[in-house]
Amino acid sequence: MESSDIAGDLTTILVTEQQIHDKLDELAAQIDSDYEGKDLLLVGVLKGAVMVMADLSRAMKKHVSIDWMAVSSYGAGTKSSGVVQIRKDLDSDLTGRHVLIVEDIIDSGLTLSWLLENFASRGAASIEVCALLRKPEAAKVQIDCKYVGFDIPTDFVVGYGLDFDERYRNLRDVAVLAPHVYS
Ligand code: 5GP
Ligand code: MG
Ligand code: MG
Repeated sequence: MESSDIAGDLTTILVTEQQIHDKLDELAAQIDSDYEGKDLLLVGVLKGAVMVMADLSRAMKKHVSIDWMAVSSYGAGTKSSGVVQIRKDLDSDLTGRHVLIVEDIIDSGLTLSWLLENFASRGAASIEVCALLRKPEAAKVQIDCKYVGFDIPTDFVVGYGLDFDERYRNLRDVAVLAPHVYS
């Protein structure tokens, strides 16, 4: 198979591009109304949240600020190590800010629980989480996520920003990666 032919690498399409956009429109309207009259800082977690951030922020009517943080907890594998490293810190000072963390997916929850603790120590006025996807059955720690797109099974998924070994991020849908690719 050509390495550019990815159809054989996927088993099922779990969430389509259209479903994602409809859901992000809904979440954007809810966030607009929840933060009415407040300044909001969206913090995207690189690199997986790039697509969610682009589409969610543009579906919102209010003006927002956007910042990015890069952390790693996975390496090239498919399981969270639980050890979180900051690869790129925020440019913004969080003191007194209303912060909404934008994530691609909550799996074990270990990365976000670490991030939430880290952000709490920086003096934000409020911190909430928006995640496009969540795997409830994989949770090792409970995360209070105010805005969730879709609850999905525990399979490893790719697309719409989500990678396996830096590939598949540019798929428009979210799909289950065939086990033969990583096993
Ligand atoms: P957690 O710490 O909640 O286990 O997951 C942290 C990060 O691992 C997520 O933000 C995401 O970038 C990545 N991750 C978790 N589950 C998946 C998955 O099914 N597919 C991909 N591509 N990345 C995942
Ligand atoms: Mg992520
Ligand atoms: Mg990854």
